Amino acid sequence: MRHIYADNAATTKMGQVAIRAMLPYLDGIYGNPSSLHSAGQAAAEALESARETMARGLGCEAREITFTSGGSEADNQAIRTAAWLGARKGKKHIVSTAFEHHAVLHTLDALVKEGFEVTLLDVHDDGLIAAEEVAAAIRPDTCLVTVMYANNEVGTVEPISEIGAVCRERGVLFHTDAVQAAGHLPIHVVEQNIDLLSLSAHKFHGPKGVGVLYARKGIPLQNLIYGGGQERGKRPGTENLPAIMGMAAAFEEALAHLEERSSQLTALRDRLIVGLEQIPHSLLNGHRTKRLPGNVSFCFEGIEGESLLLLLDDKGVEASSGSACTSGSLDPSHVLLALGRPHEIAHGSLRLTLSHETTEEEVDYMIGAVAEVVDYLRSISPVWRDLQSGKQNFVIQNK
Ligand SMILES: *Cc1c(COP(=O)(O)O)cnc(C)c1O
Repeated sequence: MRHIYADNAATTKMGQVAIRAMLPYLDGIYGNPSSLHSAGQAAAEALESARETMARGLGCEAREITFTSGGSEADNQAIRTAAWLGARKGKKHIVSTAFEHHAVLHTLDALVKEGFEVTLLDVHDDGLIAAEEVAAAIRPDTCLVTVMYANNEVGTVEPISEIGAVCRERGVLFHTDAVQAAGHLPIHVVEQNIDLLSLSAHKFHGPKGVGVLYARKGIPLQNLIYGGGQERGKRPGTENLPAIMGMAAAFEEALAHLEERSSQLTALRDRLIVGLEQIPHSLLNGHRTKRLPGNVSFCFEGIEGESLLLLLDDKGVEASSGSACTSGSLDPSHVLLALGRPHEIAHGSLRLTLSHETTEEEVDYMIGAVAEVVDYLRSISPVWRDLQSGKQNFVIQNK
């Protein structure tokens, strides 16, 4: 049977480069980087070389890199740090957007319970926000702006450099959740005025459970956990060296191929978009071009997303209805609602996220498979019958 993995926004297959980079640290170089003997020093040297690799890729200094257990932890620590620094100066207001990842939104929820005030900006129906809207939301007591670099569901790429410039001018810390962008889009933290940035290895063909928090020098990190002196005491616990080595290798290789893969993916993405647009009463989610090279997100009227996914899986296509965290719950995705999609439409969503291993032939197969499954589900749907008979009005019009 066919097997097409089109859920690369949820996680990616590890690359051979990353696996090969990890093996020596699973099998031979097992020392603890904190140990003073030779085995420990060999591990410590490797750790620092990985730190330099990550720093080079982000345009920062090695000492500005902290290794974490992934994107969620980096998001938590970045936001907690800015909140803690702000609170010391009586600044307890944070600006963010309604369509952030839950690692950001739920951290902000927790801070609200602790007395912070949060302004969540609405995104436009194309999944974008404007830097001017961020500027207008900043108040004298704002301690942090946190806006994601690229959205994990609808794939839109936000104007990060412009938002960074606004924040720098206003003297407000700027964090970006760059988990979907890292390894896929160019990032330069200095040129883009980014103070804090989160990334995660498993979104760019590295291992799971490892990520980076970049914090501009001079920003003292607030601990989430307490323990030994690892990561300058700011992220204690013996380093997961094999994973860190895999991440550094995966990041370096992703950046080495960034342009070539980006143009190849953009072509496949656009082919898939054009193909799926042929399906009646379908709607692309997110801006057509200001989106991740491998992201395609659609709503289909009269369809239930879960059934769509299961039937696609039967045809060998592994897709998602939104974020992996939301699927399995009956609530429609907060991202699609933030784009202003009505509930009944947000339920019929499909996200196909490609990788550099996706082929044109696979894209064509997916177009056919989605069209067939949508057709079938509509043929057995009472909602679709009501729409056809005019008892109910279409939300998505045909172009
Ligand atoms: C995957 C993801 C995260 C979480 O990263 P983990 O390493 O899985 O904790 C955070 N933000 C975005 C945008 C993501 O896509």
